[in-house]
Amino acid sequence: MNDLTRRGFIFSAATLAAYGLLVGVQRACRSALASDKSSKANSGPVQIETFSDDGTRIGLQTENKIVKSDSEWRKLLSSDEFDVTRKADTERPYTGAYFNNHDPGLYRCICCGNALFSSDTKFDSGTGWPSFWAPIAKENVSTSLDLSFGMRRDEVTCTLCDAHLGHVFDDGPKPTGLRYCMNSLALRFMPRAKS
Ligand SMILES: [Zn+2]
Repeated sequence: MNDLTRRGFIFSAATLAAYGLLVGVQRACRSALASDKSSKANSGPVQIETFSDDGTRIGLQTENKIVKSDSEWRKLLSSDEFDVTRKADTERPYTGAYFNNHDPGLYRCICCGNALFSSDTKFDSGTGWPSFWAPIAKENVSTSLDLSFGMRRDEVTCTLCDAHLGHVFDDGPKPTGLRYCMNSLALRFMPRAKS
């Protein structure tokens, strides 16, 4: 095993160990998370940038927030998608559809279709989760302080429907220095048609 491989292995092992701890804590705290997120949702209008599926910016639009009950969301989502987006669960690293996706295209919210990220800002973070250094438009995602599980993190949600997407960290690449660490299960990829 050369040094680089060993380092990669140690990093992966550390990531998996940290994830295992996180999942254990999450499972234990699942009942504490049972509070319905939609109950605190503000249904007031929000401004979002809209994009066509080929990534062309259409413009800023004012839309009413999408608010649904858990049972309504369950009808629209798989159980894994529901657990991540509506209950702030985390998918296992290296298992999602998009951590290793390098195709050009647009990533929309799995819940409401809001445009969230472009392949133009995607980078390989080595974490096993799809990672971006910026959202497609600052209006389209919201961040809030997340103190759950004894950690201090910035949660990232969809501005239009409050779906939990993942977290943002300040150890990303230039030009922003940010790492939006997302769950594939919260995203739907729209491949850019080849011209
Ligand atoms: Zn959404």
